[in-house]
Amino acid sequence: MNMRTRLYVGENLFKYGFENHPLSTKRYARFLELLENDAALKSSLEFFEVDGLCNERILRLFHTSEYIGRVKKLSERGYGYIDYGDTPVFKGIFEVSLASVCASVYGLDFAYNHRSIAVNLAGGWHHAYRDRGSGFCVFNDIGVSIEVLRSKYGNDLKFYYIDIDAHHGDGVYYSYESDPNVYIFDIHEDGRFLFPGTGGWMERGSGKAFGTKTNIPLPPWSGDEQLLSYIDNLIEDVFKVSPDVIVFQAGQDGLAGDPLTHLQYSDQGYLKAVERVFGVAKDLNIGILYLGGGGYQPNKVAENWIRVLRIAVNL
Ligand SMILES: [Zn+2]
Repeated sequence: MNMRTRLYVGENLFKYGFENHPLSTKRYARFLELLENDAALKSSLEFFEVDGLCNERILRLFHTSEYIGRVKKLSERGYGYIDYGDTPVFKGIFEVSLASVCASVYGLDFAYNHRSIAVNLAGGWHHAYRDRGSGFCVFNDIGVSIEVLRSKYGNDLKFYYIDIDAHHGDGVYYSYESDPNVYIFDIHEDGRFLFPGTGGWMERGSGKAFGTKTNIPLPPWSGDEQLLSYIDNLIEDVFKVSPDVIVFQAGQDGLAGDPLTHLQYSDQGYLKAVERVFGVAKDLNIGILYLGGGGYQPNKVAENWIRVLRIAVNL
């Protein structure tokens, strides 16, 4: 693609994961190991360290202060659950989640201002709502980064949120359902077969935002053919909308073999989808924030992240 590409890093950032849990920090460790051995890629990327950079005040632009306070308390205590049992608490989960939000906030600003690619592998926590966490997602880095960008550059900014994670991005969808400046195109496994159960064809936005959202629920066992044919529709829509910036939740839990879902994308199919989304950003000369999202085969996910970055810098 040959676009300027910045990777967000940090010790705390790469702690976003849980012990004895499908969302493991192994994927970041494996990725860093592979990157260390890829001199050409390493020298083509910019690195940006986020640990300790953001104040928790940014969270208030999206989340309720009550919820922020609750996570902080649980984080100090170090045990229990954020939600009803999918998202366990560990000591310091507040700071780790804040680092994840921080990387997306800086990343979206960079992507927007420099018409470049920003990459936050430990971001894309699309199930978190304004007042509660859910499905491994503590804070919604997508929502916070949209709100921070708006607070700096105005409410007229047009965002295009693309989500190819196998799960529906309910926390983003319902937070922006009636917001006409946040376009959404979300391809996922049909909610009748997979958490969180939402994201049907009829969910197209509400009020004056009707028609700005598209939900594509795929039957279990869908593969590359379905993914790439809907990517065609997506690309067409992005050109039509001509947004100011793209947020891309590119979770890899739709890849064949994932232990949590029933989709069957191949590595090549996934990478082709990513390449086409990067391509539309390049053609429109706008920036894009790539977020790691889900994906529960740590080695495969790490290997594909290397390939995604190589596509971004045209190696
Ligand atoms: Zn997912």
